[in-house]
Amino acid sequence: MKRLEGQRALVTGGTRGIGRAIAARLADEGAEVFLTGRRRDQADEAAAAIDGGRSRVLGLALDLTDPGSVLACLGEAAVGGLDILVNNAGISRDGLLIRQKPEDWRAVMATNLDGLAACCRAAVRPMLRARYGRIVNMSSIVGLRGNAGQTAYAASKAGIVGFSRALAKELARRNITVNVVAPGLIETDMTRELPRRAREALQRAIPMARPGSAEEVAAAVAFLASPEASYITGAVLEITGGLAL
Ligand code: NDP
Repeated sequence: MKRLEGQRALVTGGTRGIGRAIAARLADEGAEVFLTGRRRDQADEAAAAIDGGRSRVLGLALDLTDPGSVLACLGEAAVGGLDILVNNAGISRDGLLIRQKPEDWRAVMATNLDGLAACCRAAVRPMLRARYGRIVNMSSIVGLRGNAGQTAYAASKAGIVGFSRALAKELARRNITVNVVAPGLIETDMTRELPRRAREALQRAIPMARPGSAEEVAAAVAFLASPEASYITGAVLEITGGLAL
């Protein structure tokens, strides 16, 4: 029997990059998976590409900056119960603080922090009823160590760590775990936008001397999302090729 057979999962931001790899991995391990995109057609397209005719992966529309969209999405995903919530979706709006526009700060917080908290709030009800749940939240090594030009992103990702640890304590007695993964440099659309020199400097600082893949992050998430990770809660797992050493 596969590790996640019979489990139902929701992965936010599954249209590409890390979220898409997580959705694929959870489905390969036997879970029924909902993946989200802001546009339903793009979510459906990604779901169909991963699914390969198994009818185990479905797309849903979700805009984390719209509380109504969060409630509608979680409501649909939780019909029949929700065992796993992976809060992967996130954005960055980079630039030095001195030039930062207040609307960029707000956009990052609204998506990465307000949206993530709203998803957890909605998912916790069915998990409490079932007395079982696995929540995995996507932070970043930037949230733990900081990075020049990323104050908003770092603040949001550090906020996710504090939020998750507090929630882990709230839910521990109900058999619901809340853990965080903090990747370093992972090859996706988000990091392809980095200026070449910043990317090269980062890569030189990685002891493994290469970026990670979305699949390497997905493998760690799948473990934390599985029944096997039953005594791990409030943990922050760095996936960095040694970058933070
Ligand atoms: P991508 O930019 O490739 O993908 C981002 C995903 O988030 C897309 O699926 C996008 O969906 C979704 N998304 C964006 N805005 C919203 C919104 N307002 N509401 C709902 N969904 C939204 O990112 P990555 O795969 O690189 O990153 C995924 C996560 O991992 C992020 O939280 C990121 O901060 C984190 N991370 C990434 C690292 C990296 O090196 N790549 C390193 C550390 C952490 P769509 O546009 O289709 O609506």
